Amino acid sequence: MLTDLNLTPQPPRHLDADVCICGAGPAGIVLALELARRRPDWRIVLLEGGGRSLASERERILYDVGLAAKSYAVAASRRRMLGGTSGHWGGWCKPLDPADFTAPAAWSVPDWPVTLDDLQPYLASAHVWCEIPSNRYDPDEVRARQPQRFLDLPAGSPVAEHLFRFSPPTRFGARYADELAGQSNLDGLLHANLFALERRGDRIVSASARALDGKPVRISARRFVLAQGGLETTRTLLNLRGDASDDGEGLRSPHLGRYFADHYGVSPGTVLAPAELGYRRMADQDTAVMPVLAPSPGALRQAGRQNVCLMLAHDPADDSLPASYATHAALGFSTRAFWSYRAQMIVEPRPHPESRITLTDTRCELGLRRAHLDWRLHPQDTASALAFFDDLGTVLAQSGQGRTRLTYEATPARLASVNGANHHLGTVRFAHDPKDGVADADGRIHDMENLYVASSALFPRYGYSNPTLTIVALAIRLASRWAGESAEAGT
Ligand SMILES: Cc1cc2nc3c(=O)[nH]c(=O)nc-3n(C[C@H](O)[C@H](O)[C@H](O)COP(=O)(O)OP(=O)(O)OC[C@H]3O[C@@H](n4cnc5c(N)ncnc54)[C@H](O)[C@@H]3O)c2cc1C
Repeated sequence: MLTDLNLTPQPPRHLDADVCICGAGPAGIVLALELARRRPDWRIVLLEGGGRSLASERERILYDVGLAAKSYAVAASRRRMLGGTSGHWGGWCKPLDPADFTAPAAWSVPDWPVTLDDLQPYLASAHVWCEIPSNRYDPDEVRARQPQRFLDLPAGSPVAEHLFRFSPPTRFGARYADELAGQSNLDGLLHANLFALERRGDRIVSASARALDGKPVRISARRFVLAQGGLETTRTLLNLRGDASDDGEGLRSPHLGRYFADHYGVSPGTVLAPAELGYRRMADQDTAVMPVLAPSPGALRQAGRQNVCLMLAHDPADDSLPASYATHAALGFSTRAFWSYRAQMIVEPRPHPESRITLTDTRCELGLRRAHLDWRLHPQDTASALAFFDDLGTVLAQSGQGRTRLTYEATPARLASVNGANHHLGTVRFAHDPKDGVADADGRIHDMENLYVASSALFPRYGYSNPTLTIVALAIRLASRWAGESAEAGT
């Protein structure tokens, strides 16, 4: 059932549930429906602060964020409504690479407590939730049908190829509203703004939510999940920590709020390469795919660099590497026609402890302290990206397939103007050892018995893949682990 607290004359004052989920974006909706389907004997409550359409200014201001020196388009990066930010996501999807689950020792970052093999069983259904027509990511399958779209990369090359796929993009609110409404063991409350978690020792006993002009609804549950997006989940946890010190574990972990990161782009320069290459969004068998160039696993491991991917956009107007250059027989170019391309990269940000969310002393209308974001880029980010561009130049030159020309300079002004891709990563990172992270492999806050997080805030290392497919796979994994329990377990 879906109840809008703004439209119901006598909303409930108290609900009892097995699981209370706060936030109805992709993470919250998938977790709620997976649990409701798998456990008809359980009662699920899903709280959503927004309604079915865009938030009013008064609602949006509830989670305004203060900014430090570096700007960040916070308002454009979230939607407070049923379906959350999937209300305007782009639908780019790709599982993380195997290398993204472990971090080089020099980074002082824990490995993921979950491996790609652990996630694999849930990735297939994550594709169904995101309405992606295929879960096959081998670029060679596309190459077999469209060889002219690909370079001939020599064996052992430090440059490899990967593939993105695309969700339509699924607007999770509109797409799954009927199913939420029709699920008899699920209570979805709209315009239900979480404003308090009642804690007894290491347990949360109730959550309180209210419409802005309404009375509170109190939800008692065995388990609570924060699925409010990467920024707001972190803010809720920091508010719950209150004035307690940050030298402990779980809620008191010094890692809570740190390592805020977002993917961003670098345009390193120009590439002269064979005509008609398809390292960009293109059609294949009536679906959209995007082959990209990326470091090979061996190159990544050896160099301890960040992951990165590179797309190419044909730029006939760019004469910095003119196509006629390729006609100089002495340079040993292959006999194919050549084009000039502009290179665009997505950079994996390296976790940076000083890039962080803290609380200010001002409070929103709900009484919660406001968040403050100090987004910082790690100096190694662009170094890794440019090293890969250099590798690509070497491979192209040695194989007679082209040249690269670097035009990028990492000036302070340029770094200050970098925009994020609206992915809120890292601030509640999970790790096996409570000393390394805030939550455990299930997203349970280490020092709390029944408080969980479902969000890209859990990611300890980020890769360059967009996060939503992995967020959804993690939510399905959590539902599957809980649903396997006997009715008495997990209290
Ligand atoms: C312009 C744009 C393009 C994007 N493109 C892509 C892309 O191509 N691929 C990709 O993978 N990702 C993309 N993203 C990111 C993607 O939208 C997020 O990764 C995804 O929505 C995160 O899901 P979530 O459920 O964790 O959080 P959200 O979708 O943010 O949902 C959180 C929910 O919690 C609710 N909430 C917050 N606070 C409270 C409270 N106090 N009480 C009750 N409810 C609350 C919010 O209203 C919201 O509904 C894009 C984002 C933007 C902005």
